[in-house]
Amino acid sequence: MQFLENFTPELTISSPGRINFIGEHTDYNMGYVLPTAIGNKITFKFQKNAHESHCNIYSLGYDGFSIDLNTIAVSDTEWQNYVLGVLNEIAKLSDKLKGFDCTIESNLPLGSGLSSSAAMECGLAYGLNELFDLGLSKLTIVALSQRAEHSYVGTQCGIMDQFASVMSKEGNVILLDCQSLEYQYIPIDIHPYKIIMLNTKVAHSLATSEYNTRKQECEEGVEILKKKNPVVGSLRDVDKEMLDASKNEMPPKIYKRCSFIIDENQRVLDMVKAFKQKELETVGSLLYKAHHGISQLYEVSCAESDFLVDFAKTQAAVLGARQTGGGFGGCTLNIVHEEHAEEFIQKASDAYRKAFDIDLEAFEVQPSGGTSKQ
Ligand code: ADP
Ligand code: MG
Repeated sequence: MQFLENFTPELTISSPGRINFIGEHTDYNMGYVLPTAIGNKITFKFQKNAHESHCNIYSLGYDGFSIDLNTIAVSDTEWQNYVLGVLNEIAKLSDKLKGFDCTIESNLPLGSGLSSSAAMECGLAYGLNELFDLGLSKLTIVALSQRAEHSYVGTQCGIMDQFASVMSKEGNVILLDCQSLEYQYIPIDIHPYKIIMLNTKVAHSLATSEYNTRKQECEEGVEILKKKNPVVGSLRDVDKEMLDASKNEMPPKIYKRCSFIIDENQRVLDMVKAFKQKELETVGSLLYKAHHGISQLYEVSCAESDFLVDFAKTQAAVLGARQTGGGFGGCTLNIVHEEHAEEFIQKASDAYRKAFDIDLEAFEVQPSGGTSKQ
């Protein structure tokens, strides 16, 4: 792209990926989640280009494209929609956007459950807010980024990924109530354990369609539950007793989905308690329980993730593990004793290669700060 030849950025923004300790698929069910940003991130560099509405965007490893702000529309090129969706949402809130150039560089594995998608949306929105002094609050950036993913990408995601990318604080996880958007930072100290991510390197193509299907299945459950309990607005308002009272009116699959969400919400609260009391064994066993539900009840796991979680269970140095992210592959999160972390990675890599003929990617993450100006 020609603009790269005289690109002199005036603003650099870092936008991180995230992990979620527990609370999977609970966000769009108005429940609790426990995410934090990680050190892996997408870096955006911006300059104003003096045009009224002409913008140039280049992402390393992808390509570049130009867009006129007056003719924003969904693109056939998937990644461009993360950019276009955000521009479209900002244009609805402000008339201060003008021509800009932007380069994007990432060290965040994509499609691996670490939410490179939210990092893309939030980094761009955060940067444009700074560059053009749009006066958008952090929470507005979170919400508009989520809407961009709904309208331009087509994933009916909850609020967690964007919230975690923007709002995280180093050394903490966020207990977020996705119904009220009330949140609390919970400092975490897991010494002498480490958070080791194992990337299965598989991203099954089911991810987007099945994600939206799960959302519909939960809505179907709510509709059935409403018949006996008219006050129910979402699965957040439902307990096990209520669910069981409507079990016979529900297809078994819908019962399983609802049952997972209700348990998973409780697990978030239990894990917060365990972190506060530094009961790391409990943290670990909650991870294993969550994975069991992800795999057997919500059915968003896959052979590769199940294999790595089952392998972790055979290792004394691991307190707990589960697949993290929307599902069907991506990364597993493992709590591993620091003295045995290298050995665990080696053994897991060997076993995984033998089973699937894939070299997994392993890396340590730490709870890190949210989107920021460098
Ligand atoms: P995840 O959010 O778990 O990484 P998604 O499938 O939701 O997985 O989002 C991944 C998509 O986000 C990529 O396929 C690509 O379209 C877009 N994306 C992520 N990082 C970048 C990047 N650095 N440049 C351009 N597009 C990106
Ligand atoms: Mg995503």
